[in-house]
Amino acid sequence: MTDTDCIFCKIVAGDIPSTKVLETERVLAFRDLYPKAPTHILVVPKDHYADTAAIAAADPQLTGELLNTAAEIAAAEGLAESGWRLIANTGPDSGQEVGHVHFHVLGGKPLGPMVS
Ligand code: 5GP
Ligand code: ZN
Repeated sequence: MTDTDCIFCKIVAGDIPSTKVLETERVLAFRDLYPKAPTHILVVPKDHYADTAAIAAADPQLTGELLNTAAEIAAAEGLAESGWRLIANTGPDSGQEVGHVHFHVLGGKPLGPMVS
């Protein structure tokens, strides 16, 4: 299940290069090209879902796997004690730019308050 116009589908397919952090049968994690923190990793399903609402409705198990992968990556990045932030922009008001669901794992410095 891919979308030929989707940059994250192209990253999953290997058509666009990325710095991979972790890969399982159904999940890929790679470093954000424009990091907003010392650790900024994107966790995506290999199959294309538009956003969190779509994947949560279609495949709760895969949704859980994304969350588990995010926690695993944060621990591997040494963030378990200092803490980290998980963000999933969903839809226009959130500023979601890529229409393939992804979780941002951010950490490595004090991140400050969430934006309003
Ligand atoms: P959104 O705004 O959709 O929540 O986040 C999209 C993220 O994807 C942004 O943080 C942006 O820097 C990142 N991004 C956009 N294009 C690419 C790319 O080609 N490669 C990688 N690794 N990250 C990208
Ligand atoms: Zn996609």
